Amino acid sequence: MTMLAVNNLMAGHGLLTAVRDVSFDVRAGEVLGVIGANGAGKTTLFRTLAVVHPAQSGTITLDGADVTRLAPSRRVASGIAMVPEGRRLFIDMTVRENLQVAGENGRSGAWTLPTVLDALPVLAPLLNVLTGGLSGGQRQAVAIGRALMSNPKVLLLDEVSLGLSPVAIEGLYEQLAGLKGRGDTAMVVVEQDLDRAMEFSDRVICMLEGRIVLDGQPQTLGKQAITEAYFGLAHGEMVDA
Ligand code: ATP
Repeated sequence: MTMLAVNNLMAGHGLLTAVRDVSFDVRAGEVLGVIGANGAGKTTLFRTLAVVHPAQSGTITLDGADVTRLAPSRRVASGIAMVPEGRRLFIDMTVRENLQVAGENGRSGAWTLPTVLDALPVLAPLLNVLTGGLSGGQRQAVAIGRALMSNPKVLLLDEVSLGLSPVAIEGLYEQLAGLKGRGDTAMVVVEQDLDRAMEFSDRVICMLEGRIVLDGQPQTLGKQAITEAYFGLAHGEMVDA
């Protein structure tokens, strides 16, 4: 079932068009990886999907409902949850309080404190700990748990591994793989690590100067084609992959 459908989306900053004619669908249980070099338009796309940045034209449809012009205050209730780059948590609140606040402000559904702890077991021993004292990886898990507590239909994850140690990244992706396995949420993931993006995503889109220049299953596309698209190289040019 298509959960998120994006059609001919355009978005920008003043006269600069940062997202050009972008279209894709994501099904429930599917992970779409968004890759591209700095300035390719990934963050603008993300913020537009999260309705915090206005679309210039095109449509964003969530589970059949047009959310393109939705007021940002209606985002969480509509089923879009974003785990932003740099996660914004209430650091003087405990993990439990962070999760509960999100639950109170979100939709009701299968995600409750017990089910979130099942999915993200790393959080269970931390429930009464102040969030400000956690490691980067633990905070990121709280940010994901908080997003889940709103019972999203679409989970947007923007560079969630940024600044984490390799061990923390491994742990985080294990938890995300568990979520993916449940099959009820569509995920859109911006990930700078190409190998990681290829491994975790069912499909990848590669952006260059605001456009999608490559779209497909990572195994079918192959690392070389993805790397070339990432750097904007014409087919056949040599790259050190
Ligand atoms: P990065 O990986 O560096 O975050 P990105 O792929 O997310 O890059 P965007 O941040 O969406 O790309 O930037 C796309 C284009 O829009 C770039 O040319 C950038 O300079 C421009 N841009 C981004 N944010 C703004 C802004 N607030 N005002 C003006 N131009 C912006």
